Amino acid sequence: MRSLDDGENPLKKQKRTSGQRQTTNATSFVEMGREFDADIRTPNLPVYRASTVLFDTLEEAKARVEASERGELGVSHYGTIGTPTTFALRDALARIEGAGHSCCAAIMPSGLMAITTLLLAYLKPGDHLLMTDSAYGPTRVFCKGTLSKLGVHTTWYDPTITPEKLEALMTPNTRMIFLESPGSYTFEIQDVPGICAMARRHGIMTAIDNAWGSPVFARPFGWGVDASVLPLTKYWSGHADVLMGAAVVREEHWLPLWRTVREMGICVGGDDAALILRGMRTIDVRMQRHQHNALEVAHWLERRPEVGVVLHPALPGHPQHALWKRDFKGSSGLFSFELRTHSEGRNPTSTQIAALCEGRRYFGIGYSWGGYESLIFPARIGSLRSVAPWQGGPLIRLHIGLEDPVDLIADLEEGFSAMAHAT
Ligand SMILES: *Cc1c(COP(=O)(O)O)cnc(C)c1O
Repeated sequence: MRSLDDGENPLKKQKRTSGQRQTTNATSFVEMGREFDADIRTPNLPVYRASTVLFDTLEEAKARVEASERGELGVSHYGTIGTPTTFALRDALARIEGAGHSCCAAIMPSGLMAITTLLLAYLKPGDHLLMTDSAYGPTRVFCKGTLSKLGVHTTWYDPTITPEKLEALMTPNTRMIFLESPGSYTFEIQDVPGICAMARRHGIMTAIDNAWGSPVFARPFGWGVDASVLPLTKYWSGHADVLMGAAVVREEHWLPLWRTVREMGICVGGDDAALILRGMRTIDVRMQRHQHNALEVAHWLERRPEVGVVLHPALPGHPQHALWKRDFKGSSGLFSFELRTHSEGRNPTSTQIAALCEGRRYFGIGYSWGGYESLIFPARIGSLRSVAPWQGGPLIRLHIGLEDPVDLIADLEEGFSAMAHAT
């Protein structure tokens, strides 16, 4: 496979045109400003914006199309296939997420599209999919909608299931096991290495949604997965200003994924790719701070009378704390807590929950997370579970940002006080 380094810059091969014409005419608008050899080196690559890719010869055009059909990396004949900017991001993703394993990455306009494209790439009519019950909500919608329409049958499994019990749910048509750890809203930690070892014995592909842990705290290929889905929108970007996703797969799984990406015309622009590369530069320091701040807030919440359980895997009381400790290198800024029922056995009312969430100074109300800022949202998961329903009281999900945790705690304290005064 060709590396990025020996990829060619097609613009460099064009004839020099600057300065040849004295007067301005329609041609000037087309040809000026396309070539400028600045003799500087910068830490960051220039950003390529390209729909058209130019060739010197027809032979070169043909060779590039064929290379892309073979799944070769770093060779482009069309903007949708890639540019040096998107290739640089793909290369970084494959190496960072792969962490020593031989992987390839495809980038998509959103994390959700990375999930749906991955499922479409490897599943066909008649196949059976084992999907964690704690999956991201839109993943569930896709399984019940498009996948089921295509004749792929999904069985939901309890995220806390043992590999042996999961093995018992397999059918002769089971093609893939899709994991998410910790699970959305309820933060169950799965025995990912155990499940992957079991799946490998049966030749079944495993994929994981690795949104929460980020590459700083989670190394899914070390746990044995075949594919990892990354909502780059979240911690990789880190600034709540760009949407993107990636599917990273072991090299032997690359071709079906790449074919699907090509067939569906899935691509991202250079500016967005450069923003993800920029976010990535600071992800380690951001994650350390998210971890620290979230633990401060989580410990404080544990002592509050309004709060039942705090669903944060790094807390010793979490039911799968030992699994988290074994597999993860740290914890991120996202967790939930349960509101305690009143002494009369009544759950807090929706007005009280609104009083807690609305009008906070530092906590925005929003779904997407992973930016520098804190967020609060009530988790309504009634329709999002099939086999492992949440049995406790109302859940509130927090994303703890990079603010001073003292300010965040004071803000939540005001929220609890507003909740106490609401009816
Ligand atoms: C946000 C999220 C996604 C989807 O990412 P988008 O880029 O917003 O589409 C996927 N999985 C999980 C667990 C998420 O939280």
